[in-house]
Amino acid sequence: MKCANHPDTDAIGLCTSCQRALCPECQIGDGEVLCGHCLVAHNQAVTSHFYKQLAISGVILVASLFFLSRTALTWEQIVIGALALTFLPFGWSALSRFFDSGGGYYHPLTRFFSLSVHLVFSAMLGWLVGPWQIYKATREILKAKEANLTVSDR
Ligand SMILES: [Zn+2]
Ligand SMILES: [Zn+2]
Repeated sequence: MKCANHPDTDAIGLCTSCQRALCPECQIGDGEVLCGHCLVAHNQAVTSHFYKQLAISGVILVASLFFLSRTALTWEQIVIGALALTFLPFGWSALSRFFDSGGGYYHPLTRFFSLSVHLVFSAMLGWLVGPWQIYKATREILKAKEANLTVSDR
């Protein structure tokens, strides 16, 4: 089997996405074997997912700062409150992986209690998970950009 890009070179693997035969020079991606075209497409999907996540956090932060600044809170309380709200969704989704928020309880009061507990724990967990997720999103975007550069070098 010959490489899809180099008809004279023997292929050593297939792109896991488009199944094209690839020679060592054309095979990229760490762990997963991908051709240059599929790596860029894959990176685009990954970065747009993380960009969306960062954009949502940014919108929540700005909106919370805006609404909290109209209250009688001091600026320290405003910043802490806005950050807590920004990190809350991260904590919520992390916690939801282990605990169902109010699922299975049919009594409205039990359900409300379960949701409140879930919300409080999400807020606390968010302070740990939120900054880590934002760091990870930024790192993944930078990594994808770097990988795309190595593709266009070829
Ligand atoms: Zn491919
Ligand atoms: Zn090749």
